[in-house]
Amino acid sequence: MSDSWLQFIPADPWQRPSPEAAARARALLASFAPAADAVDVAFKNEVEFFAPGENWSGVACPACGADLEDWWNEAMNTAYGNAFEDLAVATPCCGAATSLNDLNYVWPAGFGRFVLEAMNPDIGDTTPEQDRRLAECLGLPLRKIHVRI
Ligand SMILES: [Zn+2]
Repeated sequence: MSDSWLQFIPADPWQRPSPEAAARARALLASFAPAADAVDVAFKNEVEFFAPGENWSGVACPACGADLEDWWNEAMNTAYGNAFEDLAVATPCCGAATSLNDLNYVWPAGFGRFVLEAMNPDIGDTTPEQDRRLAECLGLPLRKIHVRI
C-alpha cells in the first residue's frame, strides 16, 4: 500500500506566503479533499527539493530536450553543497543558461521554502479552477507535484 501526496510549492523557490494566507489555503485545500489523511503547510528555513518519489520520470534540457539525468545528479550535489542558494546552471548538451528549477522535469518537481500538501487526498487531482483558487489565496503562482512513495 503506497501513500501519495498532492503538493503545491511557489513557482519562485524563494517566495513564501504570509502565515495567514497559508492558513486560508490549507482550509481551502482541505475543503477540496475532505477525505485526505492530512492537509498541512510547512515553512522551511532553507530551499528544499520537492521530488515526485516513485513518479520520478527523468529530467530533460528545456532548450533542446536532451536527457540530463546523469549530469543532473552531479549538478544537484553541487547545488546541495551550497544549500540550494544558487540554482543557476548551463546545460551540458547545448549550453542553455537556465536554473535547476526550470529544467524539464518529466513528472513535475521543484524547489521551494514553502509547501501546502494533502496526504492521500483521495481525489485523484485538483481541477484547474481549484489550482487557480489556491494560487489566488496564497497570492503566488504555484507548481503542483504529485508524489507517490
Ligand atoms: Zn540542451
